[in-house]
Amino acid sequence: MAELKRFRNPKTTQDIVQKIQEIATKAGQVRICHVCGTHEWTITHFGLRSLLPSNIEVIAGPGCPVCIVPVAEIDQAIELAREGKVITCFGDVLRVPGSQATLIETKATGADVRVVYAVSDAIEMAKKEPKKEFVFSAVGFETTAPITATEALGELPPNFSFLVSHRLIPPAMEMLLGVEDLQIEGFIAPGHVSAIIGLKPYELFTKVYQMPTVVAGFEPNDVLMAIYMILKQHHTNDARLENEYARVVKPEGNKKALKAIHRAFTVTTGHWRGIGTLDNSALQLRNNLAQYDARKKYHLKLTQSKDAPSDCQCHQIIVGKIKPHQCPLFLKTCTPAKPVGACMVSSEGTCRVWAKNVT
Ligand code: SF4
Repeated sequence: MAELKRFRNPKTTQDIVQKIQEIATKAGQVRICHVCGTHEWTITHFGLRSLLPSNIEVIAGPGCPVCIVPVAEIDQAIELAREGKVITCFGDVLRVPGSQATLIETKATGADVRVVYAVSDAIEMAKKEPKKEFVFSAVGFETTAPITATEALGELPPNFSFLVSHRLIPPAMEMLLGVEDLQIEGFIAPGHVSAIIGLKPYELFTKVYQMPTVVAGFEPNDVLMAIYMILKQHHTNDARLENEYARVVKPEGNKKALKAIHRAFTVTTGHWRGIGTLDNSALQLRNNLAQYDARKKYHLKLTQSKDAPSDCQCHQIIVGKIKPHQCPLFLKTCTPAKPVGACMVSSEGTCRVWAKNVT
């Protein structure tokens, strides 16, 4: 609690904001990008953008792991549900649009789709109902991949498998640097992903792209401090990798979690909703775990289809090119109660964060 108070202390906030304002007078227009739904929540919920000088902009990149699950992978889950398999998933996956329907709409037609709070709940269900085939939709970045990995390496019942949609954050950050007209001048790297992967994967950004990169925690003062640290680097023209979240993130990451990921998965090319295909950005269960890979077990074909309805601007939101209110559907036909695009579905989606906190 004392720790929390320290990172929400208004006096500290004022001090950091003053430092940001001072250094910003010496900077031109600076655009900083974060890639984390929780960072967007902190920034939006606490109104941090309103504390920044007008020449300092913070944009949200692809930070929501649910938002970027491609249509084709939602379609695969729906296909399995329609065939009679029990699909288990976290609640926010239920309403992610596939090409024709969502999982919750499929459930309404009689399919057995169940929300679980942990993978272990789904495994327990499979053990209790051995005559049914259970599939868990494993969605998430490096933060949740170790849980899937640990379960996959453990004792699983034969009627259980994973539909893996795990993605890796550093390749998405690198992709952002190639987006036309985006002109990012610094990265705020995600705290909980970094707690797993450590600092090394970000060295690319400072060493190859000379991009100031600061790993940040999730309290308002964490984020403001990260912005200040980036501006200082920008001012001295000295791109470095810094760790504002040292109370949680170790330079080497979480070795146990990384070992589990390495033992369970290989890294492969992945499709991202709103982005397209990125090399070395997805995880796939290793061949020795193929019996738990739903795609192999049920011989699923991956047919990439169009990401979203024509007016939906999720592809622009996901790469930080526009803000939610610039989408013509925002809070008109697309609302948290009835999302049209994936960015309005999850509590980590940028449009949903804005819908709940800005309006
Ligand atoms: Fe997509 Fe809805 Fe956001 Fe528009 S408001 S970009 S349709 S999620």
